[in-house]
Amino acid sequence: MMAASRGRVIVVGAGIAGLSTAWALEKRGFAVEVFEQGPIPNPRASSYDEHRITRHAYGTAEGYAYLMPQAFAMYDAMFRDIGADHFARSKVIYFIREDTGWYEPSARSLSRLNSGFRDIPLSDIPERFPMVETAGLTRAVETDEGGMLFPIRILTDLVVALGNRGVTFHSDARVTAVDPDAGLVVANGREHRADRVVIAAGAWLEKLTPVLSRTVVPSRQAVMYIAPPPEFAKAWADAPVLIDLGVNSGTYTLPPRRGTRLKIGDHVFTRAGDADGDRIATPADVARLESAARLSYRGFDRYQVLEKKICFYTVTRDTSERFAVQPWGTRAWIVSACSGHGFKLGPLIGDTVAGAIAGERSPDEATRFAAGQMDLEEHVAPPAPQPAE
Ligand SMILES: Cc1cc2nc3c(=O)[nH]c(=O)nc-3n(C[C@H](O)[C@H](O)[C@H](O)COP(=O)(O)OP(=O)(O)OC[C@H]3O[C@@H](n4cnc5c(N)ncnc54)[C@H](O)[C@@H]3O)c2cc1C
Repeated sequence: MMAASRGRVIVVGAGIAGLSTAWALEKRGFAVEVFEQGPIPNPRASSYDEHRITRHAYGTAEGYAYLMPQAFAMYDAMFRDIGADHFARSKVIYFIREDTGWYEPSARSLSRLNSGFRDIPLSDIPERFPMVETAGLTRAVETDEGGMLFPIRILTDLVVALGNRGVTFHSDARVTAVDPDAGLVVANGREHRADRVVIAAGAWLEKLTPVLSRTVVPSRQAVMYIAPPPEFAKAWADAPVLIDLGVNSGTYTLPPRRGTRLKIGDHVFTRAGDADGDRIATPADVARLESAARLSYRGFDRYQVLEKKICFYTVTRDTSERFAVQPWGTRAWIVSACSGHGFKLGPLIGDTVAGAIAGERSPDEATRFAAGQMDLEEHVAPPAPQPAE
């Protein structure tokens, strides 16, 4: 580790949460050392994938909608800093089949954020989105701001940039014990000490500390990479991000862009599984996703499956899907990005934790901010004054 002017920090985990925190700490002048149990980046990490959705509309988790302008800005800053832009702008279209309670809070937050959105007449769907199943569709909403982030490239470029600045990486270094008051971690049988320790261990968190075991739980999830039938290839090549909303089903689909494949997943959490266990997608793993996909897309059985993949989120035991970010003991922080939205917010949350370690904000403020529970007035501009009659 390089000589530290502001102190030394050990980060456990080289997913987006750990690397973003390392990035934000190094910028503030801390000497940072990252421990990762596998290769860096690690293909078993939740963060490791071809693409991830980013968007302003947030449904009932409305607090996060108001963080999104800052989340986009933080990615812009990170991309400038690492000299690469791994974001493809795209509209995000929501196909609503049943009332999930998504529309009203999304419309309210998008309006407050001045972020464009509108209904698409259902009669326009067959021409604009010929692959979408119109049976059962009750509403389609187009939102203007969002798109796709390219995680494997982001993680890789971050590692290169941080390594160039003196951040120390330990690959194949599984941390087996942490003393949060001594600032001590044990990896591969050796003790390492620092002023602070940040635990960003994703779905492995429960193996290092029971502190959040009542709050978050690992969740085994299946996704499929697919190739469309030729008659829909053009429609998919031009498609924005598509999200299908039902009460018990629902899918999210990322179109093939910049060398990625078409990917479909569902948004129903299993809240089960062990991140160290097998990653073989069984028929049982993909059954729900396949039936949800048939409701979303015409002729889904004619799509070719290129890969069925198992990955892990952590997700809250309750339905809030909030991030659990909090101090642990006197020297440690726990950063648990949650569920299907941890990637888009990674740099903002990493910056928040680094800010708390640097004394720029209180621990309590950082915890509330990461949970989407900050004071709205601080984050949303007041509505523009109406012109006088
Ligand atoms: C299928 C899927 C789709 C998703 N879609 C989206 C999306 O569209 N948009 C979005 O914003 N988010 C999405 N997410 C969520 C997002 O990817 C995650 O919330 C985020 O990547 C979590 O990052 P993390 O750094 O907390 O965890 P991880 O990426 O899992 O990183 C944790 C790292 O810690 C390492 N580690 C664990 N324990 C130890 C230890 N003891 N010692 C050393 N190293 C250790 C692990 O090996 C791993 O590399 C999706 C997630 C999945 C799985």
